[in-house]
Amino acid sequence: MGSPYDARPWLELYGDAMPKAIEPPYETMLELFAAVREQHPDRVAITYFDGRLTFRELDELSDGLAQHFADHGVVARDRVALYLQNVPQFAIALLAAWKVGAIAVPLNPMYRSRELTRILGDCRPTAVVSSEQGWHEVLGELAGALGVRVAVTTSELDLQTRHDPRLFARAERRPAAGCADLLAVARANVGRRPAAPQLSGSDIALLVYTSGTSGVPKGATNTHANVVFNSEGSAIRIREVPGGGIFGLAPLFHITGLVCQLGGALAAGRQLDLVYRFEPGVVLDALAEHRPCFMVGPSTAYMALMNHPDVTPDHFSSLQLVHSGGAPLPSAVVEAFRERFGHYIRNGYGLTETTATATSVPAHLEAPVDEASGTLSVGLPTYNTVVRVVDDHGADVPVGEVGEIVIEGPMVVPSYWDKPEETAAGIRDGRLHTGDIGFMDAQGWFYVVDRKKDMINASGFKVWPREVEDVLYGHPAVREAAVVGVPDPYRGETVKAFVSLRHGASAEPEELVAHCKAQLAAYKYPRSVEIIDELPKTATGKILRRQLRDTARTAE
Ligand code: AMP
Repeated sequence: MGSPYDARPWLELYGDAMPKAIEPPYETMLELFAAVREQHPDRVAITYFDGRLTFRELDELSDGLAQHFADHGVVARDRVALYLQNVPQFAIALLAAWKVGAIAVPLNPMYRSRELTRILGDCRPTAVVSSEQGWHEVLGELAGALGVRVAVTTSELDLQTRHDPRLFARAERRPAAGCADLLAVARANVGRRPAAPQLSGSDIALLVYTSGTSGVPKGATNTHANVVFNSEGSAIRIREVPGGGIFGLAPLFHITGLVCQLGGALAAGRQLDLVYRFEPGVVLDALAEHRPCFMVGPSTAYMALMNHPDVTPDHFSSLQLVHSGGAPLPSAVVEAFRERFGHYIRNGYGLTETTATATSVPAHLEAPVDEASGTLSVGLPTYNTVVRVVDDHGADVPVGEVGEIVIEGPMVVPSYWDKPEETAAGIRDGRLHTGDIGFMDAQGWFYVVDRKKDMINASGFKVWPREVEDVLYGHPAVREAAVVGVPDPYRGETVKAFVSLRHGASAEPEELVAHCKAQLAAYKYPRSVEIIDELPKTATGKILRRQLRDTARTAE
C-alpha cells in the first residue's frame, strides 16, 4: 500500500474552492514588487500612525537607499542586517537590499550584544540598518569590530507627527555620528538607482535566524523563490476579502510578519498598517483608525487583545479574515474569540525554514478539533506542499499515528547559512525535519501535538504539555498557561503548570489542579500549579517554556 501522505487526502478538502497548485508569475521579490508598483503607483502601501507611503514612494525611497548602498560598495550577495521594529523604513531597507542583489538579515530588536555578536559573526554583514536607539545602545559598538562598512540609522519618530506616549515616552531624535540617516540619504538620491542585479529564484533573499528558544541560532536561507511563493500564498488568502488593508500584528523581523504581512501586502497590492511594536492598547486604537480587513499574528497576541480592559467587538468589526500562526492556538481561545467578537481565528503552522506558512485553514473551511486530545488542527498543507509524519527511522507512519512532521514544498529553504552539518541533519532531499510532533487524520487535517524536546516523560508515560495547556485554557479564570516537566524522584519527571489569570479573575492553584484532574488521565494532570502575573515570552509571542522549566528546576 502506498503512503497515506503521497495520496494527499487534503486535496479533496480543497474542493473547487482552491487551486490544487499555484505557480507564481515572478521569480524574485523584485519582479513581484515591480509589478505592483507598475499597477498601483499611487495606492497607499504602508500606513504608520498618521504617516503613509505609496507604492511609488516606497519604490523611489528604496531606489535612493540602494544607490547609497551601491556607492559604498555593497554588492550582490552581501548581507544587509535590519535591526528595526515595525517601521516603514523596514520595507524601504528590505527592498533597497534586494535592489543591489544583497541578502537581508532581519534581527530581533530585543537582541542584545551577546545574541547580535553570534548572529552578525555568523553572517558578517557589509551594511546595517538600525534604529538610532538600537545603534546607541548596542549595535554601534559592535559594528566596527564586525567589519561593517555602511551604517544607516533611522528614527521611529520619522514619517509620523503623532507620537504615542505608550510607545515613545522617552523617544527623541538622536542622530548617530558616522551613520547616514535613512530617509535623508534615500531622499537625497531620489532619481538615481543602481543597475538592476542579476537575480534568480534560487538566490537568497533573506537570512532569518530561527527563534532563540533553543540551541545555537542558525540562519535559514530563504530564497527569492521561497519568499515569492509564500507571499503569493498569503496574497491568495488576502484576495478572498475584496477590499481593505492588512494589519501588521506580527513583527516584521519574524518570518510570519515579513512574509504573510509584508510579502502578502506587496503581492496583493494592499495597504499594510504598521504600529511600532505590539502594545495591545495601541493595536486596538490602530485597528479602529485604519479598519483593516485581514490580520495574522501569534495566538498570544489575540489572547492579549482579548484580555485588554478597553476591547470591544467594534475594534474587530472591519476584519473579514483572521489568521493565527507561529505558536500553538488553543481551541478554547478560538471559541472565546468567536463568541465575543464574532470572528473565527484560522490556525496556521510553519517555521522560519518553511518561509512561514506550511499548513493553514482555507477560507471555506473550519479546522476540526481532535476529540481524544482536544487539539485544534493546524490546517491543511498549502499549495504544492506535502506534509508527512515519520517515525525515528524516517519511515511514514500510518494515518492517526504520532511522529515527527516532515515538510516538502516550494517554500522549504535549501540550507542553513554556512552550517553543512545542521543542514544535513535537518533538510534532506528537500524535506525539512521540523522537530515538531504531530499526526494527520483520515481526511488530511494535520495536528501539532508538541515539540519533540518538550515532551514530559512521567514514569514512561508521555505527556505533551500542549494537551494539558488546552485543558487549562478551558478554565474561565485562565489567561495563559504553560506546562513543563520537573524532576521527580519516583516518576523521573512530573507535570507542573504555570498560569496567569484573566484581568479581575481569581482561582486557587488547587482548583486548577482539580479542573485538570477531572479531564485528564492520572499521569497527565499537573501535580502543582503556580500562578504568576505574566508568562515569559519571546518577542514573537512564543511562551518561553524552557525558561519556565529552568525556573521550576532550580526551585525544586
Ligand atoms: P519559528 O521558526 O520561530 O516560526 O518557529 C516555528 C515553530 O513554531 C514550529 O516548529 C512549531 O513548534 C511552532 N508553531 C508554529 N505554528 C504553530 C501552530 N499553529 N501550532 C503549534 N505550534 C506552532
